[in-house]
Amino acid sequence: MISFYPGPSRVDENIPRYVQEAYDTGILSINHRSDEFMELAKDTVTELKAKLNIPENYSIFFVSSSTECWEIMAQSLIKNGSHHFYNGAFGEKWLMYTEKIRSNAIGHRFEMNDKLKTAELKLTPDTDTICITQNETSNGTQVHNYQIEELRAKFPDQIIAVDATSSMAGIDLDFKNADFWYASVQKCFGLPAGLAVVACSPRALEKALEVNDISRYNSMPSIIKMMQKYQTTHTPNVMGIYLLNRVMQDRKNIRFIDQEIRNRYSMFLTLLDEVGLKPLIENKEVQSYTVLPVSSDPNTISKLKMEAQKEGLILGNGYGNLKETTFRIANFPSIKMDEITLLKNFLLTHR
Ligand SMILES: *Cc1c(COP(=O)(O)O)cnc(C)c1O
Repeated sequence: MISFYPGPSRVDENIPRYVQEAYDTGILSINHRSDEFMELAKDTVTELKAKLNIPENYSIFFVSSSTECWEIMAQSLIKNGSHHFYNGAFGEKWLMYTEKIRSNAIGHRFEMNDKLKTAELKLTPDTDTICITQNETSNGTQVHNYQIEELRAKFPDQIIAVDATSSMAGIDLDFKNADFWYASVQKCFGLPAGLAVVACSPRALEKALEVNDISRYNSMPSIIKMMQKYQTTHTPNVMGIYLLNRVMQDRKNIRFIDQEIRNRYSMFLTLLDEVGLKPLIENKEVQSYTVLPVSSDPNTISKLKMEAQKEGLILGNGYGNLKETTFRIANFPSIKMDEITLLKNFLLTHR
C-alpha cells in the first residue's frame, strides 16, 4: 500500500534499516543522561540547522507532538494575550487549546481562499503573541514567507508563533521572521509519529524566561535549562530522535527539496486539470505546496478513494466537514517519484 495521507504519512523508505541500526548500536537502551544521548541530541540539532537553514542563534527542542506545542506555547509564551489568525481546523484547535489555558486568546478567522491580510491586522495593545498556521493541513492553504516577513516588520515586539507541522522539512521556511516554530515529524520529515521539533528564536527564549511558567514538566524554562546540556525534562523518544538524525543526514538541503516539492505540486495541478478534477483551493496565492485537497461531488470522491485502494493507493480523507467532498494528496518529500507516477496513471485511467 502506498499512502498519500497527509499525516501520518508514508515514512522514509530507509526506516527499516535505521531501526535495525538503532537496535544494533545499542542506542535504544542508553540512559538519556548519558554522553551518548547528549552526543546524539547535539548532532541532531546541528543536522537540523544545516539542512533546514535554521539560524545559528536559534534553539532546537525535542517534544512529543504539535498538540503539546499548543500547550507549551499557551503556558510559557503568553503573558497578556494572544491573537490567532486561522482559516481551518488546526488553527482553530490551537485557539481552543490556548483559550483553556489563557483567558485572553482572540481568534480571527479568514476565508480559505483569502490571503492573511497582514496590512490590516490590528492587535489590542497588550498582545504579546501572534499565532499563525503556516500550512493548514485541513484545507491545503499556506501563508508564504513574505507574509510572515511583513508580520515581523509590522509587529517587531510581539512573539510570532508558527505551526509548520505539515511544511517543515518540506518547504524552505524563513525561520528568522518568527520566534517559535514547531512541527511533529509524521508529515514532511517522513518519520513515525511521537516526536516534535521546536525552533526558537533568542527573543522567544527571553520571553519564556520573563513569563517564567515553571509549574509543569514541559514548562519552557525547564526545557531550555535541560537542553543547554542536550538533555530533556523526561525520558525522550530516543528512537524518534535517532531516526530523525539519520533521515536528516541523508536529506539534501531544504533549498533543493523545496524546489522538488514545487515541481511536483505544479505537476499535480496540471494532472488534475487533465483529468477534470479541481483543487479545493482556487486562489494560487494561498495553495499549499505540500497538501493538495481535491474537490468533487461526494460520489466521485468515494468512488475514486475506493478504486485507488484496490490498486494499492491510499488517498487521504478530506478533513472534518470537507470529508465527503474532498480527498487529500500529501506532497511530502518521502513519497517517491515512481509512487507519484502510479497515482498519476491511476487518475488518468479512472477519470
Ligand atoms: C497534524 C497537525 C497537527 C497535530 O499534530 P500532532 O502530532 O497530532 O500533535 C497540528 N497542526 C497541524 C497544522 C497539523 O497538520
